[in-house]
Amino acid sequence: MEHLVSLFQPGQVSTREETRIAYSRDASRIQGGCQAVVWPETVTDVVRLAQWAAETGIDLVPRGAGTGLCGGATPQNSVVVDSAHLRHLGPVDIQTKQIVVDAGIPLDHLNRTLHSEGLFLPVIPGSHRSATIGGMIATNAAGLHAVRYGRMADWVEDVVIVNGKGQVQCLSGSARSNSTGWEGITGMIVQATLRLTERPGNRSLTLLPLENLRELLDQIDSLKTNPALSAMEYINPNAAVKVGWAAKHTLLVEYQSADGEIKDPEEMAIIWGARESLSARLTQAGYPISEDPQIPPEAQENILSWLTAQNIPVFGHIGVGILHPRFLPDDPRIPQLYRRVFAARGRISGEHGIGLKKRQWISVEMKAEVQILKKRFDPDCVFNRGKLC
Ligand SMILES: Cc1cc2nc3c(=O)[nH]c(=O)nc-3n(C[C@H](O)[C@H](O)[C@H](O)COP(=O)(O)OP(=O)(O)OC[C@H]3O[C@@H](n4cnc5c(N)ncnc54)[C@H](O)[C@@H]3O)c2cc1C
Repeated sequence: MEHLVSLFQPGQVSTREETRIAYSRDASRIQGGCQAVVWPETVTDVVRLAQWAAETGIDLVPRGAGTGLCGGATPQNSVVVDSAHLRHLGPVDIQTKQIVVDAGIPLDHLNRTLHSEGLFLPVIPGSHRSATIGGMIATNAAGLHAVRYGRMADWVEDVVIVNGKGQVQCLSGSARSNSTGWEGITGMIVQATLRLTERPGNRSLTLLPLENLRELLDQIDSLKTNPALSAMEYINPNAAVKVGWAAKHTLLVEYQSADGEIKDPEEMAIIWGARESLSARLTQAGYPISEDPQIPPEAQENILSWLTAQNIPVFGHIGVGILHPRFLPDDPRIPQLYRRVFAARGRISGEHGIGLKKRQWISVEMKAEVQILKKRFDPDCVFNRGKLC
């Protein structure tokens, strides 16, 4: 590590024990091992790091805010590369509604900056306060408004990466897909050009507590036809009680119009606050493990009834079929859930990614794709070695 320290300015590298412990896992709670943490300030710093890693054989783990829930940013005796000092924000191009941003910018910081222009990046994960643009591109984040705005891939114009060979590459057009959603296995994202959209003026909410699942699923189908729909969140009875709501199958529906029953901004903020507090409340209540299957509409009734009958708290972005059942650590019902998801032709990860946590579930086709990408962008496995497969 002495050679690594000598390559950077004082303060850019830490090998202190407390730092290594803090960076040895992400929000997934999967424990790893960290040899050192580096805070690059320029693209050249990242290039130097990639070259150092290729020479020494020690792998690098790119890290944004560490809010990932699948161990993607958990090092395995690696050096962690924290993007926090890559924080340049370019000017907004009002004509094209685009902005060039560094990877370490947190989403809420970006959106606060854009407020005066009346624009925003509308991909809003529950972790929006701290999740970084680099982490969101790497995981192809979705979130609370995916039913209207899709996911990160829909908002990325181009991405600049430092690949495992230490080369700087700008990926635009169809080449963006070699980085977006690949969880940092092709290289470290250092910058991106993002597309933006206008902030909605009018907003309203409806909170629908329903007695049974059939009623809920029928409502979803009819509510989805409203072109002003901008969020559709589900909270099952076991989760609803944790925020003081009735033990019902509850739908939280947001419109960019006056179609919802609740129009008072303060009342809406309280309801969204309750929904957004669910993750922390369920962790406190002993359910820290968050899963994220994406389930096709025809299988939702079956899987949701099973989860609720098992007393598993569930919430999620039902408008796009992504659910977050919460479990105890090592709960044997997690593999049971994924067997059901497979049988229903759902996806094992709707938005969190594969990381270390779901490697055993990925398909032969995806494994082959990972190998092709690795050969092309990172033949020495410099970045995120052992992730995805
Ligand atoms: C309470 C809570 C709510 C959440 N809600 C949502 C949600 O609604 N939707 C959703 O999609 N996710 C959600 N997540 C998961 C997580 O916040 C997202 O995956 C987010 O995009 C990760 O951003 P990050 O900056 O924290 O990345 P990290 O956790 O630091 O990293 C995530 C992955 O991206 C890679 N990575 C990070 N930065 C870079 C970079 N610059 N270049 C290359 N690779 C990089 C890492 O190596 C890792 O594989 C939630 C998490 C929590 C804790």
